[in-house]
Amino acid sequence: MATIEIVCTQCHGTGVDRDASPEGYGTLCKKCQGTGKTTDELFAGRVDAEDLRFVRFTIHKKDPEKKGGDLLDFRQVDIPYGDFLAGKRPEPKEDDLEKY
Ligand SMILES: [Zn+2]
Repeated sequence: MATIEIVCTQCHGTGVDRDASPEGYGTLCKKCQGTGKTTDELFAGRVDAEDLRFVRFTIHKKDPEKKGGDLLDFRQVDIPYGDFLAGKRPEPKEDDLEKY
C-alpha cells in the first residue's frame, strides 16, 4: 500500500506542540518528533469488509417542539452490507432529522 507524507495533525506542521505550554513556549511534538509531518496510507478505493453483514443507521427524528431536534428520539435501519456497497441508504421519512 502506498504511503504519503501529511502535515502532522497534532502540531499543524510546526513540530512544536503548544497545547500545554505557557504563551510563547512549546514542547516537542511527540506525534511527529518535531518533523512537522507524519505518514498515512494513500486512498486507493474503498476496502471491502468481508465479515460485515449489515450497516446500521441511527436516524434521529425531528422534534416539532424544539428547533434543534430531540436526539433521544430515533429509529434504526439496518442495510445489508452488499446493498450499502451498491449505494443503498435508508428511505427518508418526513420527521427524520438526518437525511442519507
Ligand atoms: Zn507534530
